[in-house]
Amino acid sequence: MDYMIRAIDKKNTFRMFMVRSTETVEKARKYHNTTPTASAALGRTLTAGLMMGYMMKNQNDRLTININGGGPIGAILAVSDNSGHVKGYVDNPNVDLPLKQDGKLNVGGAVGLNGKISVMMDVGLKEPYVGSTDIVTGEIAEDIAMYYLQSEQQNSAVALGVLVDKDLSIKSAGGFIVQELPFIEEEDIKRLEDTLNRLKSVSGCFNNDKDVEEIAKDLFSDFQIEITDKIPVEFLCDCSEERMEAALMTIGRDDLKQLIEEDEKIETVCHFCNKKYLFQGKKLKNILNYIEND
Ligand SMILES: [Zn+2]
Repeated sequence: MDYMIRAIDKKNTFRMFMVRSTETVEKARKYHNTTPTASAALGRTLTAGLMMGYMMKNQNDRLTININGGGPIGAILAVSDNSGHVKGYVDNPNVDLPLKQDGKLNVGGAVGLNGKISVMMDVGLKEPYVGSTDIVTGEIAEDIAMYYLQSEQQNSAVALGVLVDKDLSIKSAGGFIVQELPFIEEEDIKRLEDTLNRLKSVSGCFNNDKDVEEIAKDLFSDFQIEITDKIPVEFLCDCSEERMEAALMTIGRDDLKQLIEEDEKIETVCHFCNKKYLFQGKKLKNILNYIEND
């Protein structure tokens, strides 16, 4: 089962979030029937979304990552909360590019370099907080690290990895975000950098049966890692007929009437999980009545 931990270095030099997200990404792959490149791009974004959501304070807080670099995959969207739930999609799940020279999936090529990564946090205030930065590599981890540095003045190391198996299923997925704390000293920064530089491939770190706690302690063996919290994570879509109905009611009376006259039914599809909702007969009349009397 996928889960996520929150940890701290005992000397208070950095905090860390780490997640194994193999089943989460596999569920997304099945919903969206993504190619390996799209699986990696969406999987990395979902994995980051889980950890970034975990940093928020309240259960009703929502975090949305929107990445659009003008590449063939189009936009990538992930929405998460602070309780280990994430949902997401990519505009073009069929994007397929040749592997890079190092044999890795070409996520950067699919995402593109001409655009922005935006992070929106809805924490129940009148206006959500929105920060955005230019995409630097399109490989997603570096882009999120840059977002933290530029938008939140937070020095962070972000590592995200998705391994796709021969049968296109997700072999392993996971990642971590390490954030320096205010009183970190020069020597610890150096030690942390050395640790991060030694790390070759993050996807490899999760391609095993190890506990996430163990992976964290192994990778950061130069520090004393203390696990402070742990929660299960999953891909969860919260769409429902009521929500779809509410969305239909916002498209405008005339447009809706026209749709109904043309077809006598309306089918809507949830972007996040591809579930179809069919409105016809009495259900449609109810929506029309509501709009007419509004
Ligand atoms: Zn859905």
